[in-house]
Amino acid sequence: MKPCAKYVASISLAVSFGINVPAWADEKQDFSSLQMQGVEQVTIDVDLDGAVERLSRAVQFPTISNQDRNDFDTKAFDDYHQFLVEAYPNVHKTLKREVLGDPRPYSLLYTWEGKNPDLPPALFYAHQDVVPVPDDSRDQWMQEPFSGAVADGYIWGRGVLDDKNQIHGILEAAEMKIKEGWQPSRTLYFVFGQDEEVGGPEGARYIADVLEQRGIKRFAFVLDESAPLIPGVFPGIPDNTALIGIAQKGYISLELAVHGVGGHSSQPPEESNIGILAKAVTKLEDAQFPYRIHEAVRHQYRYMGPELDEAKQPMYAAVAFGKDGEMTDLEKQFIEEMASDQVTRAMLHTTIAVTMFNAGIKDNVLPPSATAVVNFRPMPGDTPEVIIEHVKKAIDDDRITVRDISASTPATNVANPDGDGYKALEKTIRQIWGNDLIVAPFFVIGGSDSKHFQARDFAPDVYTITGIQLESMKEFAGFHGVNERIKVDEYGKTIGFFYRLMDNLEDL
Ligand SMILES: [Zn+2]
Repeated sequence: MKPCAKYVASISLAVSFGINVPAWADEKQDFSSLQMQGVEQVTIDVDLDGAVERLSRAVQFPTISNQDRNDFDTKAFDDYHQFLVEAYPNVHKTLKREVLGDPRPYSLLYTWEGKNPDLPPALFYAHQDVVPVPDDSRDQWMQEPFSGAVADGYIWGRGVLDDKNQIHGILEAAEMKIKEGWQPSRTLYFVFGQDEEVGGPEGARYIADVLEQRGIKRFAFVLDESAPLIPGVFPGIPDNTALIGIAQKGYISLELAVHGVGGHSSQPPEESNIGILAKAVTKLEDAQFPYRIHEAVRHQYRYMGPELDEAKQPMYAAVAFGKDGEMTDLEKQFIEEMASDQVTRAMLHTTIAVTMFNAGIKDNVLPPSATAVVNFRPMPGDTPEVIIEHVKKAIDDDRITVRDISASTPATNVANPDGDGYKALEKTIRQIWGNDLIVAPFFVIGGSDSKHFQARDFAPDVYTITGIQLESMKEFAGFHGVNERIKVDEYGKTIGFFYRLMDNLEDL
């Protein structure tokens, strides 16, 4: 592999002018393209009409996760499960199916016994639940959100993109394979959670516990949803890109509260409870966590960098080959650029988001208490203890109490972007969607249910991508928004993606 000529030229120019050249340049690090070459595109014949009909039916079960967990439609889940049994007879004849969850069992665990029990298993994850459709957004939908309408070349409805297309892509592929008499060498697990949209405490977390207790030492490969393939999905890259999540940030929410005396508004104290809490929140927002470059970001730019603007390649190379605890000028420049966009900025530090602020019930009553909730998405190492300490120090006010109100999860392991699992995934992506796209690992600033697996030792290599091609970022807005839809033809490729992936996992 040959580094790009221009890039080499820019280093030698820097050297000849005596500019301070970072260590990686001295070592002549190879920054050539890592995009997989020579993969032939394949067409998988699927029963598209039947598959579309089944996905359309799936959307019609309102398996909604409401923030109020008492508002849970058990019938929607029961009916959906029954529908799956009828729609995929061979899957249900061949795989073991368990309905699990704690305290409410509505998640599905399928076990497809492999021919060789000595091989470490693989796991495909997707979630059954969907976010609600707010009443005031219904009139913006071009099709009823739970109708599963098939119109204008699209399948429409809440959950068709997030994430039922993945559940059904997996089941369609498995159904096809079983009909062909195929059996995997390694055991395959399919896990379909019930509450991903509210953090997965009842479903994914419980099933991760169950599998751990059953003595699984290591998964060879875990796949879960993340970004779909979209041109422009990553800020600043207009090309069609398939991003493969290799690490996810953590999650913790803290409640800040002040409890004091209330009283009549005609004789206010110098500081009201609302005023005290507002100052605390302001101080916290001023005390941002410092920026640093995460290992997953280094991997990301090692893969992405050579495909981007040549003029910036020395900077990307500095990031890719940089060392924690050292910060070169080029890395500082990178941080400055990343920090100017709120998406990329979130990749650089533990974020602080003030999401709730509650106090007061009447215009002439001073409230006796005020509360605020702050949601953090931690970088590795920023444990709940570290974050609480940071908050208390920033606020520096003993009148404020700080309490962890979340089922917090730590930042996850980093999956290996050079490993066979990643390669199998990239190969599959190129087989289905061709070579005219960038494939790169990335650091996921949100999180999905696989974080419950990826934060544990038995699942070091969790890769996340939603296996569907969208036309543009405009389509992506349907994710949790209005007019969620996917193209019928692209759904056929989703099925092909899972079908091929099952084959390619044989080579791990
Ligand atoms: Zn989702």
